[in-house]
Amino acid sequence: MNQWDLVLAGGYLCDPANNLEGYYDLAIQNGKIAKVAPEISTRAAKEVIELKGKAVVPGVIDSHIHFSHCSPEGLRMVAQTGVVTAIDFSGDREEIQKAIDENNAFGINIGFLKPAIPKRTLSSVDPGEKELAAFLDSAQREGALGIKLLGGHYPLTPEAVRNLIRLAAKEKVFAASHVGTTRCGSNVDGLAETISLAEGNPLYIAHLQSYCRMQTGKDPVMEAMRAIELVKKAENIRSESYIYLYNGTSGRCTGGIPDSHVTRTCLSMGGFPATEDGIFQAIHSGYAYVHIPRGGEIIKSTGPEAASYWREQGTNAGLSFPANSLSAAIAIALAKDGGRFVVDVLSTDGGSIPRNKLIENGLALVRIGAFNLSEFVEKTAVNPAKIFNLEGKGHLGVGADADVTVLDLEKGEAYLSIARGRLVMVDGLVVGSGGYFLRGKAGA
Ligand SMILES: [Zn+2]
Repeated sequence: MNQWDLVLAGGYLCDPANNLEGYYDLAIQNGKIAKVAPEISTRAAKEVIELKGKAVVPGVIDSHIHFSHCSPEGLRMVAQTGVVTAIDFSGDREEIQKAIDENNAFGINIGFLKPAIPKRTLSSVDPGEKELAAFLDSAQREGALGIKLLGGHYPLTPEAVRNLIRLAAKEKVFAASHVGTTRCGSNVDGLAETISLAEGNPLYIAHLQSYCRMQTGKDPVMEAMRAIELVKKAENIRSESYIYLYNGTSGRCTGGIPDSHVTRTCLSMGGFPATEDGIFQAIHSGYAYVHIPRGGEIIKSTGPEAASYWREQGTNAGLSFPANSLSAAIAIALAKDGGRFVVDVLSTDGGSIPRNKLIENGLALVRIGAFNLSEFVEKTAVNPAKIFNLEGKGHLGVGADADVTVLDLEKGEAYLSIARGRLVMVDGLVVGSGGYFLRGKAGA
């Protein structure tokens, strides 16, 4: 009789949440982890995968991606890297369901945060408490894992930010923020402002390194030190960072002006006017990059042809600028306080934005000894599962969801991935189908 659906045999397992690290076999049955032991008889298994020389870790979670309102290629790009769970940080319930139904989710788990955007999901930059409460209700009804403030791109007034974070805490709705208000920009001053507006209520701060782009000082690493100090002092703040030179923003313009404030700032940083024409010049000259779908993925492209493409899209295409400091990003990812990481999570802010480097860049830090394997798992599985309240994820204990990522540490990439017992990716080939919607627990 077949006792197990699948046995992963001979790998080096790292499961910090259960304090387990060493050579263990792992058996999967009905989409759950069924047994972990130094040796599991493979005679009772329908399928066995030999993983000698590979590392077996809890399914990697990319806590911050973009897919909704972007390109359908996004989730394939995520799945291809070995990530098995992703959270769309400006998501739309219907688009995600459609991707799952139409086989554009490739078997991974997807949840979303509902974005608070003036003139799209909110009436104005200064919505009153009643409207904010209704917004939180709608996010819960739609099954969102929480809500997201997009202050950098689409700021609200400080008062509205304060109220939204306070009401979310009261309703026990998870709140995340890209900092910035109508008063403060998306920089370290904006970070200090947002932390003070949270007034001790829980808040998750996105991509800490992106507030360190020399808007408030002369040196991004000095700004990173200030950002680290601010987060270290605030018990109510959870945070993430990513490691990548290029940011991701919108090229959409209304009346000749970029909708996104981040886009305007990036243009000014590069010496271009903060206008539609400025975007054209920036792409044309090779400073800004346009996100273009090609051959099942999104690539970053610059120069005259890319500028024409952006115009052809009626300005509605994603853009990337070389806005981040890698020194600041690495300092923030590694920062510790008394042996604990200051910044809880490593993510990508990728998905349809072409920078899905979570595993690649995380393992590069493991290779140089900046992280050990267990710390990589902590930042990419254990902490995200805890913070986003993803039950049954982030560990490999018996009864947990059979979400597994197998790493090739020599190559510095994932070799194979499994979501709920089903293969998602094998040796760079995406084989998963369907997908799982991670429904937020309303009021939980
Ligand atoms: Zn984002």
